[in-house]
Amino acid sequence: MAKTSSFWDDEAGGFTASASPLKRDFDVCIIGGGIIGMSTAIEVAERRPDMMIAVMERADGPKGASTRNAGFACFGSLSEVALDVDVLGSDAAADLVRRRVEGLSILRSRCGDDNISYDNTGGREIFLEHHASLDRIDKINELLHPVFNRPAFVRMDNLIEQNGFDTKTVKALVGTEFEGMLHSGLLVSRLWEIAKKRGVQIIKSDVVNLRNNVHAAGKPIELVLKDGTEVICRNVVLAANSAISELIRMISNNGATVSANYSSKPMFQPARGQILLTAPLANLKLHGTYHFDQGFVYFRNVGSRVLIGGGRNVAMADEETTSMDTTGTIQNYLEHILPNVILPGKNVAIEYRWAGTMAFNNSKQPVVGEVLPGVIVAFGCNGMGVAIGSEVAKRTCELIC
Ligand SMILES: Cc1cc2nc3c(=O)[nH]c(=O)nc-3n(C[C@H](O)[C@H](O)[C@H](O)COP(=O)(O)OP(=O)(O)OC[C@H]3O[C@@H](n4cnc5c(N)ncnc54)[C@H](O)[C@@H]3O)c2cc1C
Repeated sequence: MAKTSSFWDDEAGGFTASASPLKRDFDVCIIGGGIIGMSTAIEVAERRPDMMIAVMERADGPKGASTRNAGFACFGSLSEVALDVDVLGSDAAADLVRRRVEGLSILRSRCGDDNISYDNTGGREIFLEHHASLDRIDKINELLHPVFNRPAFVRMDNLIEQNGFDTKTVKALVGTEFEGMLHSGLLVSRLWEIAKKRGVQIIKSDVVNLRNNVHAAGKPIELVLKDGTEVICRNVVLAANSAISELIRMISNNGATVSANYSSKPMFQPARGQILLTAPLANLKLHGTYHFDQGFVYFRNVGSRVLIGGGRNVAMADEETTSMDTTGTIQNYLEHILPNVILPGKNVAIEYRWAGTMAFNNSKQPVVGEVLPGVIVAFGCNGMGVAIGSEVAKRTCELIC
């Protein structure tokens, strides 16, 4: 029977937080202890060491996405970027790539590559048949030249066999040198550690109510924790990923008028992401991060194991959920890809199956803005928060200080 916890969480070995706040009033309270919440806390603490900052996280360590992802440090594969150009336009597609690259750069220099097991493996996209984006490599490289100063994507069909694929199945391979992988559990542990060193108080508690305008004297927002404790603060950052609508509802139910930009529906669609991880394998040739089916499927090695995730496109409506249970439909689909594409003809044991939650929107741009004075939302990484999360945190911090 496969484990249902995240491998990253198991390896990170636990996250410690205070059971209750040491103070009852803060300058900044951040709801959500994932990549965005913790990176925002660190940004604010570094810019304004005089500010009292708290992070409220309802789970034992973040349990939405940040330790339940695939650990790709990526900016988008060729076919994804080509699709973004078609749907969003060239400027918006290039801007997204630029922001992801900037986010990764902040994250790596903040955490230190060794502390998060960052490995600059390079990334690959495989194609089982000819795809129109393959004819657009030069155009996409030209578009992304201001970001990378070198071609972002290069055809590398010679790697098909070298990486253990069957050349009858995999017809084309495109590589990029600008992608790598990391250990998601170590990443979040590191962010928690840095935040604590900067004086941020991390409190393990669910925020169950949020009121504004209840106190004067510059601390107008009140948070109610699960044990009934009331905490006041000057700024609240909602970094709760797909649970953000619960928090917005709390504010509206208390009579506050949320800015029209954020109350209009739908602000985002929740999306579940599912993953499976094999047992260690002998003689694994696969090394690096791989994209397949326009980014809907992704896989990588984790040491001598294979991690594969995605497949939402097989049951799109069912996966538009905040539930974090795995399902037979997606897990079977992912498992089927292992012997048929990744590890030709091999039967492998699955050791872990888990799911996480994401927030998607049509622009693919994360949302950072004030929903009402002093209340800021920061979410919507569209499945790329490892990459863009730190850039989102930087913009969030700019709204505070
Ligand atoms: C399966 C999967 C694979 C992915 N793979 C990649 C990848 O390879 N590369 C990449 O760049 N991105 C990937 N992502 C996306 C990335 O993980 C997310 O974009 C990122 O982690 C989002 O960070 P966050 O801080 O917004 O949210 P989260 O990490 O979800 O943090 C939000 C936190 O808020 C807490 N919370 C919610 N409500 C409350 C409340 N009322 N009170 C207190 N706490 C609350 C939750 O417990 C949660 O821990 C993947 C996501 C998934 C699900």
